Amino acid sequence: MKTLPNLSFWEQQWLKNADILIIGSGIVGLQTARHIKNQWPHREVWVIDRAPMSLGASTRNAGFACFGSMGEILDDISRTDENTAYALYEKRYKGLQQLLADFGETAIGYEKTGGYEIFTPEDHAEYETIAANMNRVNNTLESVAGEKPFQLKSTSKLGMKVLENGVYTPLEGMVQTHLLYKKVQEAATSAGVRIMGGLSALPPEKLDSGKWRVKTQEGYTLDAQTLVVCTNGYAAQLLPQLEVVPARGQVLVTSAIPGLAWRGLMHADKGYIYFRSLGTRILIGGGRNLDFAGETTPELDTTEVHQNRTPIVQRMDEGLYVCVRMGGMGVALSALVSRELAQLVKETR
Ligand SMILES: Cc1cc2nc3c(=O)[nH]c(=O)nc-3n(C[C@H](O)[C@H](O)[C@H](O)COP(=O)(O)OP(=O)(O)OC[C@H]3O[C@@H](n4cnc5c(N)ncnc54)[C@H](O)[C@@H]3O)c2cc1C
Repeated sequence: MKTLPNLSFWEQQWLKNADILIIGSGIVGLQTARHIKNQWPHREVWVIDRAPMSLGASTRNAGFACFGSMGEILDDISRTDENTAYALYEKRYKGLQQLLADFGETAIGYEKTGGYEIFTPEDHAEYETIAANMNRVNNTLESVAGEKPFQLKSTSKLGMKVLENGVYTPLEGMVQTHLLYKKVQEAATSAGVRIMGGLSALPPEKLDSGKWRVKTQEGYTLDAQTLVVCTNGYAAQLLPQLEVVPARGQVLVTSAIPGLAWRGLMHADKGYIYFRSLGTRILIGGGRNLDFAGETTPELDTTEVHQNRTPIVQRMDEGLYVCVRMGGMGVALSALVSRELAQLVKETR
């Protein structure tokens, strides 16, 4: 920890009196801050981040506005159970509708392009399993989406060496990640949230007064009645008791490809590989399943939590809350989980 020069009287006033302090200015932290501020307009709500803006998945993601492909849903069912997997799909679906209602489609560059899950010839057995389970999944999820989400569709126009049918969903789309972040940040600022970058929080301490103290690596000390941790994959660095495993995700963007034959989202390999059109370029991400050990790291090159796909929205102690572990679909989840957390704070503070 650095030692600061003495703070002036004015600087000390500036850093006094946070009622609610949120660590992490990603899309979850900022939306949570906005909802809390709207609940209590007269309370000081601050968000700090280690970076000048945000340095996490919210500004580095692929911009998929999606809820889970058939392969991912079956994978989730095999790891948990049907109810949990469907509930997660529903949360993402409703979360995206809420996000679009909050910020507006045009403002965040949303396009409902639809998306395919595609299969190489080596994936034939997986394709057969998915096709055999599609009706069952569709019948359950129809009540969530108002229509059957998945259908088999020819891939012949995609120009890819894949099986002749893929699983298509018309329901998903894409956002422009930077526009979404901009709108989320503007909305928080307009609500009166104070955002401060360049403050890297150390693990919090509870004071005898019941307040929470956060010292930062830069040498600042911030006290607040209520502390909310929204650092996603980095949460266990602050609260080691949390089961959150950081995992690196990679996103690459190609040069322009003249005559690119398709637009939209593509999922492969149970969602571990994904790519989308970006104008005439392709943005490609994922591949973490190819090296699970090597990709489980807090080192930054873009980081996400994927180990467990369910978010943690929880009160950890009196005045201490977390909203973390968004997994690979935090765009869709963020509007809903941030509201849930704000409501939890309201009910319990
Ligand atoms: C490569 C990649 C591609 C993705 N693609 C998609 C996609 O297409 N669609 C989708 O829905 N989701 C996608 N995701 C997931 C999605 O981006 C995340 O779930 C979502 O952004 C999480 O938001 P967050 O606010 O919880 O966390 P983050 O955006 O990670 O924000 C956490 C913040 O905490 C800050 N922080 C961390 N530690 C500290 C500390 N000690 N002190 C102060 N600040 C700290 C970080 O700087 C960061 O700003 C992707 C993730 C990755 C990594």
